[in-house]
Amino acid sequence: MDSFNSFIKSVKELIKSCDCDYECNAKRFKQNFKNWTSENYYLDKFIQDTQLSDHNYNFRPQALEWITYDRLYNIKYTGHRKYGENWVDAYRANWIDGCIYRWDNNSQNWERNDQNLFVTLIAVSHKVYGITQNPETKDYVIILDNDICLECEYTCNAIHFRRNFENWTSGNNDIDEFVKNTQLSVHKVNETSYAIEWIPYDRLYDIYNEEFGKMRRGNWIDGHISISENSSSKLSDNWDNNNQNWKRENQNMF
Ligand SMILES: [Zn+2]
Ligand SMILES: [Zn+2]
Repeated sequence: MDSFNSFIKSVKELIKSCDCDYECNAKRFKQNFKNWTSENYYLDKFIQDTQLSDHNYNFRPQALEWITYDRLYNIKYTGHRKYGENWVDAYRANWIDGCIYRWDNNSQNWERNDQNLFVTLIAVSHKVYGITQNPETKDYVIILDNDICLECEYTCNAIHFRRNFENWTSGNNDIDEFVKNTQLSVHKVNETSYAIEWIPYDRLYDIYNEEFGKMRRGNWIDGHISISENSSSKLSDNWDNNNQNWKRENQNMF
């Protein structure tokens, strides 16, 4: 009989979200589980668990919620940002609903604050490995596979350029941004010639003081990135997978 009772108790625990004999936040969230899904089972479970662990009656919930994309507006690209080792695309937007404040007994729904709140969106690639928290800043950090382009859905030229961002700087933020943006807009193989590269002065030699207009003339040791002959190809045939670098031509070009 004891085991039967404990069986009944565990079934009750499965059905009930908690043991609270009052209406807690977990119960309120649980009523709403049927009304949303991220369409990813594990992500749903993760969000639900944060909601089911809040047994407060009248405190602002700290739980996460699934926010559908159509609750955001004014979405504007604000550029790429560095998060840890990764470069990600950032956007700003307004969130129509705002944050949950507390339960409203009259409407039997959450009362919200900060409607139309300005929020930052980070575009994460398709593959999310996990989530962690920085113990110092308390920031939540998403761990993701950053090697796939959201636009192309494979590792395109823009990604190859992006991987190299740490390895050069012009010393001027505006120039860096400009050069990086030209590189990030290059997705197809036949577009690499549109990208600008930062060429350090030490990669040029024989700089004559001959004036060509106001330009100086020199030889560029590396040569420009090869331009693909197969312009319809989606595969990067000017990316050398063995060397993990660009194929170049016209070495020592003027
Ligand atoms: Zn509870
Ligand atoms: Zn791409």
